[in-house]
Order: sequence, then structure tokens, then C-alpha cells
Amino acid sequence: MRCPFCRNADSRVVDSREVDDGQAIRRRRSCSGCGRRFTTSETMVLAVVKRSGVTEQFSREKVVRGVRRACQGRPVNDDDLQQLAHRVEESIRSAGLAEIPSHEVGLAILGPLRELDGVAYLRFASVYRAFTSIEDFEKEIADLRAAMTTGGANPATDSGTSDDSR
Ligand SMILES: [Zn+2]
Repeated sequence: MRCPFCRNADSRVVDSREVDDGQAIRRRRSCSGCGRRFTTSETMVLAVVKRSGVTEQFSREKVVRGVRRACQGRPVNDDDLQQLAHRVEESIRSAGLAEIPSHEVGLAILGPLRELDGVAYLRFASVYRAFTSIEDFEKEIADLRAAMTTGGANPATDSGTSDDSR
């Protein structure tokens, strides 16, 4: 990497440390030409393999773009989307693989999106999972309801079921 000050191609590493939980390495370099210091950063390139076999670099922006479409008209702001993309990237990188099939990216989006907004989740899932019938939606909504009610007491429902948790 050339010195950003004098374009000299030769530099010496004076310090090197892991950042982002070991996901990246940052190096402090000293130019052997002008003696000035600059920092370089190295991250593992995460490749996404599309169905066609073409690979492209994973991009948070793409995740945001894909999810934003499903969030139209929903109370979801840009921060929410950025945070979601960050979570998706973390969960994908935690697998420690250099390449990941594109459908795995979609899969990693579903969980955080479901927590964010149920309607956006249904829209995204219907495309991602290629829903073909109303039954597909009904099943997904049933799962969504189940996930939303587990763990939280719901005083609004009066189904008459006995509380056997005691
Ligand atoms: Zn220099």
C-alpha cells in the first residue's frame, strides 16, 4: 500500500492490533520515504455466492436495501435498518466462513427482521420463501403469533385456558 502522503510504496509496520473481535486487523505504518505514519485496516472478505454461481462481496448496504423495500410504510427508521444489517453481518461472520450462499444471508435477515416489525417480516419472508398460497401466509402468521406470545404474559386474551405453570 502506497504512502498517502508521498506515494512511496515502501512502509514498515510499527503496530498491529486486532479490532472488532478479531474480525479485522489495524496496522500502524511508517513510511520509509517521508517518515510519516498512517493506518491501514485489513478485513476478511466475505463472499456471497449467488444462485447463478457468481460471487460478490457481502455488503451491509445491500441488506439494508433489500429490507427497506419490505419496510415501506412501517415505523422503521434508518437506524433500525443499519442495526439490523450489522446484526446480520455479525451472525454471518461468526460462522467463520469465507463464502456463504446468498440464501443464508436471507435466512440471517429473517430473525432480526421478525423482532423489528412483523408486517415487514411477512413481506420479506413471502418473497424470500416464495409463498405461493394464502395458506403459506396463514402458517407464517400462526408461527409469528406463537413467537410473539411465548415468554410474555398476555392479559388481553381470554381463551379460558388453565394456567398449569404452577
Ligand atoms: Zn511517505
